[in-house]
Amino acid sequence: MTTFRAVTASARHYRPAQCLLAQSRSVARLGRRSLATVSQSPPPPPPNVKKHSRVPSFMPTQHFIRGRFVPSIDPDRTFPTYNPTDGTEIAEVSEASEEDVDAAVAAARRAQPFWESLPAGVRGAALLELSFLIHDNAAELAAIDSLDSGKPVHDVRAELQEVQHVLRYYAGWADKMRGQTVQFEQDIHSYTRLEAIGVIGQIVPWNYPLSLAVWKMAPAIAMGNTVVMKTSEKTPLSTLYLCELARQTSMLKGVLNVVSGGAEAGMAIARHMDIDKVSFTGSTAVGRKIMAMAAESNLKKVSLELGGKGANIVFADADLEEAVEHCFQGAFSNNGQNCCAGSRILVQSSVHDEFVDKLQEKMDKVVVGDPRDSDTTHGPLIDSDHLASVYEYIAAGVASRGTLYGGDPLPHLNPRGAFITPALFTYLPATHPIATEEIFGPIACVIPFDEQEEAIELANASPYALAAGVHTRDLSTAIMMEKSLNAGLVWINTYNRTPPHMPFGGRKSSGMGKELGEMGIREYTETKSVIMNYHPKGLWNAVF
Ligand code: NAD
Repeated sequence: MTTFRAVTASARHYRPAQCLLAQSRSVARLGRRSLATVSQSPPPPPPNVKKHSRVPSFMPTQHFIRGRFVPSIDPDRTFPTYNPTDGTEIAEVSEASEEDVDAAVAAARRAQPFWESLPAGVRGAALLELSFLIHDNAAELAAIDSLDSGKPVHDVRAELQEVQHVLRYYAGWADKMRGQTVQFEQDIHSYTRLEAIGVIGQIVPWNYPLSLAVWKMAPAIAMGNTVVMKTSEKTPLSTLYLCELARQTSMLKGVLNVVSGGAEAGMAIARHMDIDKVSFTGSTAVGRKIMAMAAESNLKKVSLELGGKGANIVFADADLEEAVEHCFQGAFSNNGQNCCAGSRILVQSSVHDEFVDKLQEKMDKVVVGDPRDSDTTHGPLIDSDHLASVYEYIAAGVASRGTLYGGDPLPHLNPRGAFITPALFTYLPATHPIATEEIFGPIACVIPFDEQEEAIELANASPYALAAGVHTRDLSTAIMMEKSLNAGLVWINTYNRTPPHMPFGGRKSSGMGKELGEMGIREYTETKSVIMNYHPKGLWNAVF
């Protein structure tokens, strides 16, 4: 068992806005882009880390509260996090209790009015600084995240590009949020003011630890809120390293607080009486509980980014090579551990067989292996429990006489690693659990359709409504389909693209609220209406 010692940040005090401004300016001028050493005497790297893998010899494992890494109030409260490649323990991580969440909320509450009162551009500058630090520490962040999640290192590096983009995007929004003036009566001056909501609880899953943390924290912090985030108990490490980088920006202490742990800590956030909003990303089952806890406590605001079962629809006139590529990526990127995975591939009957042949050819090129190797396209699933649940679905598909391609176990890679090749089913009924339930793993099915109306009916016959794809060369087919599909997001001749500029979020059992885009930052604002009678003795008042 390897236990990492956490970084203890040097004590810093709240600084007045001017000092922060000056610091932000000097950061911008000097382009401060190097990270100071994070540890004085790092312990040796753990045995499961290859030399070339850039995992820093020292990683924070404690909660990040008020700008410092601190153990749980009961220091014995820890939990292990595992490497999915070989099932070995990477580190013992501090596990938050209700009291630890209280401490994080108190820090966030104290910092919030100071943070909101700063010039908005200063808040944006802190996010920019963080994006620079991520750029300079991308190798370390990618190595940590890959170790903890099993993702190929190069995939995490690509994800980090997006993470920086999101930070820059919201850094830009910080000083551009504006209310409205509303003229409805003489002598009355009316306007709306956008304000921060206050302290935001944020709960994230394990499938994209860095992206999802930044999707949530960046708009909240840009608007002057403060944050108490809980990472997933399966992938806590990379977000803690992100905190070490945030500690080196001009962000006030207490603006970003991150606790680790599982359901107990999550419930403490959802029920907390001093949290003003909870933003949750995770399963629909837990999302329902979050909403109930928010309602039963202080009726805090709620936004929910939940599960999905994306339909990816291929018409006969589509560029088939392109469609195969997007359907392959849509279903199997990140091993299908993706809320908007296009795991229901609906293909027009006349090109069904050709499409399936091409997709299988593509699947043959997959290289499942060690996430640190540059030629690996797919690492392990998150853990062996998840692998077992994926096998259960495969067994159910085979029992129902579906035709299976792939889905092979790979014990030779590592008997304790959660490795599997992508699996494709054909000839399963559209009502089979493989075609209707969120598996969150590398299983897709191809279902044929004849007419456009049939494709719409099949696609919309789901309790989920997060994302869908359409592949066609015909503009009117594309627009008719886009209008008919009940989904928060429709991709046409592409899939899985989530640029920071476009709102992302589901309908029905896929949740409520949006992340990214302007709507993503509005989720972290309160609107105040101000109605001012500036001429009490004016004509209008005299008459009425
Ligand atoms: P999960 O619901 O099991 O856990 C999500 C988070 O909630 C974790 O941090 C977990 O510790 C916490 N949690 C668990 N039980 C809790 C409880 N009772 N109260 C409070 N918090 C609790 O989901 P997961 O397995 O981590 O992630 C997979 C799910 O996330 C999938 O359903 C996927 O579709 C969804 N997801 C959705 C999006 C989106 O943007 N819509 C993005 C990524 C993942």
